[in-house]
Amino acid sequence: MKSVREQVHALSFDVEEHFQVSAFWSDERRSSWESYESRVERNTDKILTLLSLHGIHATFFVLGWVALRHPNLVKAIVSQGHEIASHGFGHEMITSQQPEQFREDVRKSKEILEDISGTAIHGYRAPSFTITPQTRWALEVLVEEGFRYDSSIFPVQHDRYGMPGANPYCHRIETASGSLWEVPPSTLKMGPIRVPIAGGGYFRLYPYPVLRRMLSCAAADGHPLIMYFHPWEFDPDQPRMSGSMLSQFRHYLNLEKTEARLRQLISDFRFAAIREAVEAVEIMGNRAGRCLAMESSNG
Ligand SMILES: [Zn+2]
Repeated sequence: MKSVREQVHALSFDVEEHFQVSAFWSDERRSSWESYESRVERNTDKILTLLSLHGIHATFFVLGWVALRHPNLVKAIVSQGHEIASHGFGHEMITSQQPEQFREDVRKSKEILEDISGTAIHGYRAPSFTITPQTRWALEVLVEEGFRYDSSIFPVQHDRYGMPGANPYCHRIETASGSLWEVPPSTLKMGPIRVPIAGGGYFRLYPYPVLRRMLSCAAADGHPLIMYFHPWEFDPDQPRMSGSMLSQFRHYLNLEKTEARLRQLISDFRFAAIREAVEAVEIMGNRAGRCLAMESSNG
């Protein structure tokens, strides 16, 4: 088995503004997005510079809303060899949508991203990982709309999202309209529960040496790590939003440490875009399939 340093893990970023996050969502705030200061371009630039220094490619799940307002950002991401994928249009959680609204949302954002980037969009990540037991129908819509992989099922217990008990590893998932790859954010089984270790507030909460050990444990069985970040996590000076104490804690915790931690992470593990991590899993699966077939024909 490959060491965690040789293994290809997946690095991803959900490209959205600091005022668009679900934690601070309100219909009133949604209607005034245009009045907030845009910080997404300069924050994403910081990430692009860091990745370029380390020679790493990643997947950027971009909101259609952001792409329309910052087409040059999308072009810069693509021109530097990264993968563009969809984070939907306006960050509406799937749990608040009907199937036809969702179809319209993903179709519109896919068209916008394909037009601007000049590349085919194959990946999708739901705002706030909201493919849950109640919204599994979304997977079928994604297959019908031409997506090859989804990265929205978080196999944990959480107040806004999660599918406890779901397969925690990169795998093919069947729907009535065909199959696609499911690429769940990384978790670690600790006793009876799965602990999220993939990014976001969790990544900023644990001391880095502890997190590193957890990530090494999760990767030890040969499954790629699937990590996620947001451009606003690299912006400790962002204007503070009003919201619940829990949301404020999760959103603003240790923002000043994110950049240094990401540097450590990318020097400790080998990362690539999700499309490459999925390809590696597919090749491994095919090899294993061939070995099994040979064993059975020999035996
Ligand atoms: Zn998001």
